[in-house]
Amino acid sequence: MRKKLMAANWKMYKTPDQTREFFRDFLPLVEKHDRDEIAVCPPFVNVPAAVEAAKGSNIAVGAQNMYWEKEGAFTGEISTGMLLAVGCTHVIIGHSERRQYFGETDDTVNLKLKAALEAGLVPIVCVGEVLEEREAGLTEDVLRRQCLRAFHAISGKKAAKLVIAYEPVWAIGTGKTATPQLASEAHQVIRSEAGKALGEELAENLRILYGGSVKPENAKALMSEAEIDGALVGGASLDPKSFAAIVKY
Ligand code: PEP
Repeated sequence: MRKKLMAANWKMYKTPDQTREFFRDFLPLVEKHDRDEIAVCPPFVNVPAAVEAAKGSNIAVGAQNMYWEKEGAFTGEISTGMLLAVGCTHVIIGHSERRQYFGETDDTVNLKLKAALEAGLVPIVCVGEVLEEREAGLTEDVLRRQCLRAFHAISGKKAAKLVIAYEPVWAIGTGKTATPQLASEAHQVIRSEAGKALGEELAENLRILYGGSVKPENAKALMSEAEIDGALVGGASLDPKSFAAIVKY
């Protein structure tokens, strides 16, 4: 049985003070919740405030991005070592907004994934099709290509911590959610690709999250699917009550 991971992606929202406020309200709502793992991924500058506020709780803190080199003249970038040093345990890789606005590709996702696994972080690798691809019947091809390239030259053993988030781009921040059935079908494609690249045992244990307009109202239906191993939540994770309701669906 795979333990679900409920992860918050705060994108470019909240200051350190607002981060502390969120945790003050969120912690009591989920303190006894051990059915699922919980992770909050705030903007980089809020990580220390989040780590401090989450100390001693069941909540992990992650980053929304990273660079694959250990250090060097890479202005504006953050390494895995830096993330570990401030208490991050998780990192989102290849979010569709990074692919769309910041030129990330399947190849840079692969470089980041290798570095994250090497460092012992839990990488949450995002894959998903855009609307035109779904309408053209290309969803399966897109998912297979994204996975094949993301998993290139990664050994099954090293990849034990890997988490995938299936995020259909047309469902992110739009209020449109994939049906549980449609998400399940996509998850099966991802799992089969993971099986080929990383081995059947790893694929069986691989957690595949769903992301795309997850809300308290639709969390239960989505999370009841055997193929859905948690959620990556954007907008609805900014409010402590709403994220707690999703976590406790
Ligand atoms: C996301 O940013 O990963 C996401 C799924 O956003 P939203 O929940 O707002 O659609």
